Amino acid sequence: MDCLFCKIVDGQIPAAIVKRGDSYTAFNDITPQAPTHILIIPNQHFANMAELATANPGLAGEIFKAAGDIAREIGLDSYRMNVNTGAGAGQSVFHAHLHLLGGRTFAWPPG
Ligand code: 5GP
Ligand code: ZN
Repeated sequence: MDCLFCKIVDGQIPAAIVKRGDSYTAFNDITPQAPTHILIIPNQHFANMAELATANPGLAGEIFKAAGDIAREIGLDSYRMNVNTGAGAGQSVFHAHLHLLGGRTFAWPPG
């Protein structure tokens, strides 16, 4: 399968890795939308977070836990976790991922 994020997990494409676990990889987004913008992805391929949560709810929980752990470790007290699902919602890479954004204020509702 020709998947950009699978290649980052495999090390075929370089990324600024923040943290790795047995089941997930966290790395800096190449086009950051905030001073902190980290992507947390399962090491196994799923098309989006909903498919991941359906197939393996425990792994989905690990992704969210990893994001919260990273936020705490880097000292973020306010942050946004974002999941875009489907092209109409802004998903552009079809390997499940959670955005962790911080370091600025965020508007609500989102654009
Ligand atoms: P989506 O739009 O699917 O929710 O998020 C995909 C994210 O992947 C975007 O924020 C985009 O900037 C990021 N991205 C796309 N290509 C690369 C890449 O090659 N390396 C890294 N580190 N991030 C990427
Ligand atoms: Zn993939």
